[in-house]
Amino acid sequence: MDEQLNFAPCGYVSIDDNGTILAINETLLRLLGHNLQEVQGQHINLLLSTASRSFYQLYFFPMIRLQNKVEEMYISLKSKTEQDIPILLNASRNERNGKMTNDCVCVPMKRRYEYEQALLTIKKETDTRNRMKKKQIAELDRLRHELESKQNELLALNEELQRLAITDGLTGLKNRRYLHENLISNVALHAERSQPLSLLLIDIDYFKNINDNFGHMMGDKVLQGFGQLLKDASRIDDIAARYGGEEFALILPKTDKLGALKIAEGIRSQVENANWDLPTITVSIGAATSLAGDTENALQSRADRALYASKNRGRNRTTHASDLE
Ligand code: GH3
Ligand code: MG
Ligand code: MG
Repeated sequence: MDEQLNFAPCGYVSIDDNGTILAINETLLRLLGHNLQEVQGQHINLLLSTASRSFYQLYFFPMIRLQNKVEEMYISLKSKTEQDIPILLNASRNERNGKMTNDCVCVPMKRRYEYEQALLTIKKETDTRNRMKKKQIAELDRLRHELESKQNELLALNEELQRLAITDGLTGLKNRRYLHENLISNVALHAERSQPLSLLLIDIDYFKNINDNFGHMMGDKVLQGFGQLLKDASRIDDIAARYGGEEFALILPKTDKLGALKIAEGIRSQVENANWDLPTITVSIGAATSLAGDTENALQSRADRALYASKNRGRNRTTHASDLE
């Protein structure tokens, strides 16, 4: 073999049709870690990885016989130390001295193989990360949903707290605080619109006797029963409230003296005629209707004076503040 081929920058091996190695250059011997004596006259299988042997047998030989050449075949050789060495193989079939020889050149593909492996590793890592990301996104979604439902719970709880803060626990009517706030805004609103606003203050007569004679529980039942009666007697915009022990109020928007007296009398007679399973229960009512330049305090104290008058005049009656001297 001439010097140039022997040390060419690619491997060279020629084999006969039986696969016997006829010649091999130094470059390839060095790549595989063999010396010439170990290889010459041996079967090419000595230099092939296990996987490549069948490939060589099933693909390389039929192909080179058919086309007289094989181009760009990727296979793995096997070094003396049993390392796989990936190579790119080109071969041509030539006749020399009346015999067919298959001349093969091989270029190591170690770098390319390493790049491919690195790419594969990166792809695997990316896949894993994507899977993790998906998991994390799902977890984030779950937490977001949980947060939303907790926020909704909190909103519902706040609404309930707000409702409780303005509600009388025993009767479910509005409480004293709400009555006061509503009276302020309603007096202002009605003054602005020049509309009449009336207020009823209602006190159960001799309520202490009910407690004393039938017990506190019965007293509570009467308070609840009267609360319900007041609710039923209210129109949609009216505000019914309990502002003391047995003291109730009804704010009557857009209602003048006559309207207020009619409603008050209705309530008074309903209480008197209701079946309480007790001796007759009655209420005294004080009514007042807003005047020009009124304040909520002035309106309330006029209604209070009217209530006091109803009590003084014998109870179970309605008095309107404008009828007082
Ligand atoms: P008057 O006709 O002058 O209004 O007489 P009255 O007995 O109704 O008035 P008084 O102010 O003397 O008594 C009110 C009673 O209401 C005294 C108190 O024990 C009772 N009371 C206040 N709050 C409650 C309550 O929540 N439940 C019950 N059962 N009784 C209550
Ligand atoms: Mg009272
Ligand atoms: Mg009373």
